[in-house]
Amino acid sequence: MDLKPIRNRLVQVGLEAFLITHLVNVRYLSGFTGSFAALLISSQEALFITDPRYEEQSSQEVSPIFSRVILGPGQKLAQIVDKYGWRSLAVEDTLTLAQYDRLKEALDGVRLVTWSGVVEGLRRRKSTEEVDKIKRAVELAQEAYRTVKGEIQPGRAERDVALDMEFAMRRMGAQGGAFDFVVASGYRSALPHGSASFKEIREGDLVVLDFGARWEGYHSDMTRTLKMGKWGGWEREIYSLVLEAQKAALAAVKVGMEARDLDTLARGIIEKGGYGEFFGHGLGHGVGLEVHEAPYLSLSSQDVLEEGMVFTLEPGIYLSGRGGVRIEDMVYLGPQGAEVLTDLEKEG
Ligand code: ZN
Ligand code: ZN
Repeated sequence: MDLKPIRNRLVQVGLEAFLITHLVNVRYLSGFTGSFAALLISSQEALFITDPRYEEQSSQEVSPIFSRVILGPGQKLAQIVDKYGWRSLAVEDTLTLAQYDRLKEALDGVRLVTWSGVVEGLRRRKSTEEVDKIKRAVELAQEAYRTVKGEIQPGRAERDVALDMEFAMRRMGAQGGAFDFVVASGYRSALPHGSASFKEIREGDLVVLDFGARWEGYHSDMTRTLKMGKWGGWEREIYSLVLEAQKAALAAVKVGMEARDLDTLARGIIEKGGYGEFFGHGLGHGVGLEVHEAPYLSLSSQDVLEEGMVFTLEPGIYLSGRGGVRIEDMVYLGPQGAEVLTDLEKEG
């Protein structure tokens, strides 16, 4: 992993070292998958810090560009900073207030500056190795859906369907589900994040299924909406609009585009159909080591779509008390242009 962008930034703003504590970022830069570690990066040093529980694991996982430091009993991170004599430190804004206060107290006289989204910024553009892992996570989720789809029927509880899907993907080798799956049927399909409940799926229900798998730390995220039985007029109408909005976004997406313009394009179609107020979330988000990460595709986004990005396009319409529709696919902006990573069949 190239630490140059981080080192350049330190020099630019006149800070001596960057303390990275957000574990996903630690993993991204060092390769370490355990649950306790931090990195300290200066223009000269690249330190990986953990405790004795992870001595063995870190020796296998951590990239050789880092010197490993195993904290002894009672030894604190602050002592390492002290040892190197750093007097100014960038810290990540994902520290809790309590962690920040403790650090501040332990590093008496050291200037602390909060950095926001620095490693996340590097994570926005995926390497081909990362894209391969995401593709595997997509495959696992799609196979699980195809295995279980025939069993998504009236009489079954939402959570049983979610369990079946998670079991199927794990059996095929996934590390697990990417998040708590949404299986939202009937009136519950109007809840954009209606995690699977004990509700029974009934004849006539719309069923929104939002799911994904995890593979080597990377995630997939996709949504399909099914109908139990014959489609009603209003259901057909909102489904067609959502599908049209998504198709328009898929056709328009390209490198160099403002993320919010893509949101505006898709949203415009739903607005024109008269359902603008019922599409209450952004069009999509980046997917990688976290299920939701940069870039963000929404009206307030400042992100520009760049080569290497992987993100979702997921318009939806949610009618409270009646039901909802969402369709979500994943896109990779590769050297050959936009590639849709998901290919699960859609209704209509
Ligand atoms: Zn999703
Ligand atoms: Zn999503």
